[in-house]
Amino acid sequence: MRLLLVGAPGAGKGTQARLIAQHFGVVHLSSGELLRDHVAKGTPIGRAAQAYMARGELVPDAVVLDMLRGPLVAAAAAGGYVLDGFPRTVEQAEAAYDVAKDLGVSVQLAVYLKVAREALIARIVARGESSGRVDDTLDVVERRLDVYDKQTRPLLDYYRERERLITVNGDRPVEEVTRSVLVQLQRARKLLD
Ligand code: AMP
Repeated sequence: MRLLLVGAPGAGKGTQARLIAQHFGVVHLSSGELLRDHVAKGTPIGRAAQAYMARGELVPDAVVLDMLRGPLVAAAAAGGYVLDGFPRTVEQAEAAYDVAKDLGVSVQLAVYLKVAREALIARIVARGESSGRVDDTLDVVERRLDVYDKQTRPLLDYYRERERLITVNGDRPVEEVTRSVLVQLQRARKLLD
């Protein structure tokens, strides 16, 4: 199983990706979490990414692709992955597809967690109080949502045109969203063979 969760910041990608990966016994890979680990450890990748992340902008593709190549191939070999936060742009999706198709590890389905913008802002600011993330503040959130609208939203059409998109209403309690995702995956199981 090779899934991707797409959605705006605060849509619940990380939470749902973790639960779905657990359910199927596959690896959860979050580009944001991996980047935050690199920043915390002060690695070259972390140093290259830090300022972009603090501003709420996307880290350059080369840095993210470099970081993910190994973990993605390893996860695919170990039974699959639930990716969250990558690809974040159509360019990243195309680059990832080029690398992954020869290895047979490309994304089978993208799950879109749909949540209205007003709900997102409230969620992220609330999360910021406990997460301590420097980008979970009101001004950076606005920037991240704009970046999402311009750079990530086109990904939805990319997967829709390829008939690989599932849409789930993410504006509900966590367990309900997970249940809907699982039902939809069951319906689309032919794409997951
Ligand atoms: P997230 O945890 O997914 O909200 O990501 C936090 C931050 O990490 C984003 O605002 C970006 O700065 C960076 N980031 C995460 N994933 C990517 C990606 N695929 N491409 C570029 N930047 C990313």
